[in-house]
Amino acid sequence: MNDFIDVLIVGSGISGLRAALEASKYSDNVKIISKLPVMRSHSVSAAGGINSVSVSHDSLNSFIADTIKGSDYLADQDAVSILVNNTTEEIKYLESIGVNFDKSDKVYSANKLGGAEFSRALNSSSQIGLSIMQRLYDEVKRNDIQILENWHVLDLIHKDGICYGLVAFNKDHNKIKSFFSRIVILATGPSGHIYSNTTNSTNCTGDGVAIAYRAGAYLKDMEFVQFHPTSLIGSNILITERARSAGAYLFNKNGERFMTKYAPSSLELAPRDIVSRSIINEIDNGLGLKDSKYGDYIELSFTHLSDSVLNEKLSDIKDMTSSLLNVDISKTPLKIIPAQHYMMGGILININCETSIQNLYSAGECSCLSVHGANRLGGNSLIECLVFGKIAGEQISHYDKNTKVNVNSIDFDEYVGRHTEHYIEDVKDSLNNIDLEYVSNSCAKLQSLMTSNVGILRTNELLTKALSELSIIKTQLLSNNSDNTNNSEYSVFSYFELLNMLDVAEAIISSSLLREESRGSHFRLDFPLRNDKDWLSHVLVQLSNSNLKTSLEPVIINDIFPDSRTY
Ligand SMILES: Cc1cc2nc3c(=O)[nH]c(=O)nc-3n(C[C@H](O)[C@H](O)[C@H](O)COP(=O)(O)OP(=O)(O)OC[C@H]3O[C@@H](n4cnc5c(N)ncnc54)[C@H](O)[C@@H]3O)c2cc1C
Repeated sequence: MNDFIDVLIVGSGISGLRAALEASKYSDNVKIISKLPVMRSHSVSAAGGINSVSVSHDSLNSFIADTIKGSDYLADQDAVSILVNNTTEEIKYLESIGVNFDKSDKVYSANKLGGAEFSRALNSSSQIGLSIMQRLYDEVKRNDIQILENWHVLDLIHKDGICYGLVAFNKDHNKIKSFFSRIVILATGPSGHIYSNTTNSTNCTGDGVAIAYRAGAYLKDMEFVQFHPTSLIGSNILITERARSAGAYLFNKNGERFMTKYAPSSLELAPRDIVSRSIINEIDNGLGLKDSKYGDYIELSFTHLSDSVLNEKLSDIKDMTSSLLNVDISKTPLKIIPAQHYMMGGILININCETSIQNLYSAGECSCLSVHGANRLGGNSLIECLVFGKIAGEQISHYDKNTKVNVNSIDFDEYVGRHTEHYIEDVKDSLNNIDLEYVSNSCAKLQSLMTSNVGILRTNELLTKALSELSIIKTQLLSNNSDNTNNSEYSVFSYFELLNMLDVAEAIISSSLLREESRGSHFRLDFPLRNDKDWLSHVLVQLSNSNLKTSLEPVIINDIFPDSRTY
């Protein structure tokens, strides 16, 4: 008989660690399971900032209004209020565990990021993600919360819409095991690796989203994929929005500061969807510059900025580009291009972080309560991970931990138990029959398909083609067999990750096809206008009898009504 866990959290990024710390207040039987070592979670790379109201003329209402306008009015307004109203408490919590925010004369030094009326993004020596992760990890260790690293979760154990635990594979010992738990919290982070041009790492394969979807959970807002305006051409390494906040300009090939045409008031600090689309528009109009190896780009220029700005505010970018590219940004502009960066959509949750499956919760980038709607503002993800990670962890307080979940009941053994054993046998078979070169080629095909057909500008024709090509990749992958007993347990995970990526991609394409309007990051060349009359709704996706089913859910509007979105 397996050990029974109260709270099993999948993922050791900021949302997973925060959930674990909160859950540990109510239970001493909390475990974190993660496919990566803690400090390799993607949260460590965040460098732009975390939003909170800190400057005197700012207000919670202004933060709420900016987030809703930034979302192109698709964010659920009850969710945005919860996010914003909890930010101050979370910042205080971070300080209480040792995060040192940058301050000048004891006052927070905040940066103004895109779409914000006021300076709101706090930082910690330009390494906000790393600082938060280090301190949360210290706390997790101090509280003796067990972390199972290098365990790759494959699927949930569930029956009749109730989750009982999960099946995972240990990469170090080549062992598959089922874990039974009163509640499971999915905090598995981003899915950006489905695109070839992404700022996300190769581990960001949408596992949690696909795992929940296969178990029958609803996904929400999947068509909204954020492309960050400024990634380095070739590598897609992110140049944080702090660069434009400190005054960097965008130039086309004529040396024109083109954002004056698209966002006359906010210029380079318009929200990301608008700046990315403007860059693509310039390039499509022949106004981009050309790199002989990587093609079209736009310039991000720092050359007009003083040495003190470069050294005090942008030293991380200055050092990184100097060592990586041998470029001195005080003299030479950077060659940049938009790249996939963040998923607004994910596993549908309510304000208690409950998914549509009983005992299954979610938080962080893999979830979607819709605080970001059709476009996320810079600095709003880290705070979302903390606020909703905490809420997810707190949910165990509503369970009676003395009630035994009858994992040994006949019903359970006959269905879930056997199902799990069969599942494990299937996985073992798959591990021996995977042609890894074929997996790698199929992955590259998927990434290039998503980049070419499901990018910043979409049409029915491109999306329909993407769906049919994706179905071919999936069918061929599932029927491709070879006898590769030499596969290493590390590399075979690319097969399971690719299956997850295909599920996530299918949900994105199907939702994008359905939404016949343009809103936030979703721009349909064949439906170029926002259409509030027909589309003030979220697209939901669910797997039903092995088929993807879509439905609509109205946006929750409290007191901010859709308006024109100019910046
Ligand atoms: C380069 C970059 C910079 C950014 N900068 C900012 C910023 O400045 N401010 C901001 O607000 N946002 C920023 N973001 C976004 C923000 O960093 C992320 O949305 C956030 O950190 C995600 O945290 P998370 O806890 O949801 O996931 P992650 O930190 O990605 O953690 C996911 C965890 O899930 C685990 N996992 C995944 N799949 C499995 C599986 N199958 N089995 C077991 N474990 C699994 C992983 O091991 C990992 O521990 C940035 C994003 C990028 C890419």
